[in-house]
Amino acid sequence: MSGKNLPVKLFEPYPVGDLVVYVTGPDRGAVVEADCRWELTTTLDSCDCCTFRWRSRRDPSFKCRHITALRQVLGVD
Ligand SMILES: [Zn+2]
Repeated sequence: MSGKNLPVKLFEPYPVGDLVVYVTGPDRGAVVEADCRWELTTTLDSCDCCTFRWRSRRDPSFKCRHITALRQVLGVD
């Protein structure tokens, strides 16, 4: 846990731009593209998506938009 006491509920949909984030744990969530049924498992520093998998090889600190959305919902900067 980050220590922040946030009113984020588990398994509630949080829209972030064109994404919907379901928080499934203190550091993870399921991110769904609003126009797609694809569900990604995303944590604060990793993601299932191809963008992350390829880009993170060259840039270990790379954050795709799913990670950014999850961090926004969890209030992590
Ligand atoms: Zn991603």
